[in-house]
Amino acid sequence: MGRPLDLLLRGGTLVDGTGAPAREADVGVADGRIAVLPAGTRAAATEILDVSGRVVAPGFIDVHTHSDALAAPRDAAAEPVDDLRLAPLLQGVTTEICGNCGTSLFPSLPERLPDLAEHLRVTFGLGPVRPAVDFDAFAAGQDPASRHNHIASLVGHGTLRAGVMGFEDRPPRPDELDAMCALLDRALRQGAAGLSTGLIYPPGTYAATEEIVALARVAARRGKPYVTHLRDEMSQVESALEEALEIAARSGAALQVSHHKTAGRHAWGATLRTLPRLERARAEGLDVWCDVYPYTAGSTVLHAMLPPWASEGGVGALLERLRRTEVRDRIRADIVTGVAGWENTVGNGGWDLIAVAAARSRPDTEGRRVADLAAERGVHPVDYVCDLLLAERGEVTIISHSMREDDVRRVLAGPLSMIGSDGVPKPGRPHPRWAGSFARVLGHYARDQGLLPLERAVHKMSGLPARRFGLAGRGRVRDGAVADLVVFDPDTVLDRATFDRPLLAPEGVGTVVVAGRVAVRDGRPTRVRAGEVVRVR
Ligand code: ZN
Repeated sequence: MGRPLDLLLRGGTLVDGTGAPAREADVGVADGRIAVLPAGTRAAATEILDVSGRVVAPGFIDVHTHSDALAAPRDAAAEPVDDLRLAPLLQGVTTEICGNCGTSLFPSLPERLPDLAEHLRVTFGLGPVRPAVDFDAFAAGQDPASRHNHIASLVGHGTLRAGVMGFEDRPPRPDELDAMCALLDRALRQGAAGLSTGLIYPPGTYAATEEIVALARVAARRGKPYVTHLRDEMSQVESALEEALEIAARSGAALQVSHHKTAGRHAWGATLRTLPRLERARAEGLDVWCDVYPYTAGSTVLHAMLPPWASEGGVGALLERLRRTEVRDRIRADIVTGVAGWENTVGNGGWDLIAVAAARSRPDTEGRRVADLAAERGVHPVDYVCDLLLAERGEVTIISHSMREDDVRRVLAGPLSMIGSDGVPKPGRPHPRWAGSFARVLGHYARDQGLLPLERAVHKMSGLPARRFGLAGRGRVRDGAVADLVVFDPDTVLDRATFDRPLLAPEGVGTVVVAGRVAVRDGRPTRVRAGEVVRVR
């Protein structure tokens, strides 16, 4: 025998992340790498954990987060965010992929950084943020003392666009498009995982298909995917999906449809058509997948409920506009009649389906529906919303109860989906998906509802996302892989986070190992900070 293992997980059932059937095996860790051993091995180890009756799986990969700013250094006076930082780790997530929906903390021309900082402060809702000129600078801004798990990042198109041309609603000039392509290429070369868009959010929504094709070509040349929050996930979801497929086909980039959903009463049931459409595209040769979170409610920023013209010019311009009566009247009218190319969440649902998640100076509003809040004050919901945005300097997050259970189940169970929380980690009452998604898929959907076998559920959280995003040496339990591991009890694992108590840690997740070190023991975090910034080459 060589020198002892650092850690031995003995007596467990191995679900290795490939989708293969569970089997009995012991799992050793040495120098941050995995060694799979026969069950009942007598190898010596510095620490031995008896995990009989438990499942040993690869640490989960959350392919869709908005945690970009969560591990940046914070002022001592700022609101603590420790619970937010720990929530993914406590459900076994060892790698997060941020930079989704067109929003990342980089890249930008240096002279655009101040405006970008104001925009991203509102988006991330964690106080002041420091955007970065490129991926290297972003990586340097992650505080190692706060990195419980690993993080990779996409390049957000909205950030990239704002970082070159500001918040204007017009096509880029040729020199601006060249500058965007160059910044994107540099970030991808430095290790960013792909290109993302958020085509309902200003300034991403100002981009035409052509602009995105040009940028997706840069991603394709680097062998990285195009990841998109579709231009519409409601009544126009099918044409929005066609746009994404066109961008992938014309650019040659692989396609990841983010948090696939068909929301609002006009789109309920449309997954019966969108999922077969994705499968047909695959059959025709497109490398396309999607991700999904296991809830019927979404979450986003409040100003995304307003027509895109309201946000032209950035946050300052938006807030200035919202003071004016004629602007509010026009918003009211647009919500009723719609605007071509705009998703119009409220017109597809109603203010009664939208709850305030975070409004820091008005905590009494958190968890309550906009329609009720407006009625109590005897004002129109649009006026209520404009006043709230003004009071919060634009920084309000909402939860939108907009989906139907059968659609969510169909996407979860389908062959093309992987799991992404779409977690928006902000103080207040954030969507419980940040702290509950993975345990909810394993406990509620896989075990209790029998929607999919455990091995496939784990595959959608590990091996499949690792392959999609080029996370080499991760996502599988096999010899030599990075020792990111989770040990959970298949009989008890279950989410506990709710809309009222959104950060409650799940049941049944006992041990989490990050880069070979025990970061969670008996369901409690240790002092280990082994997370690193993952560079995708
Ligand atoms: Zn999104």
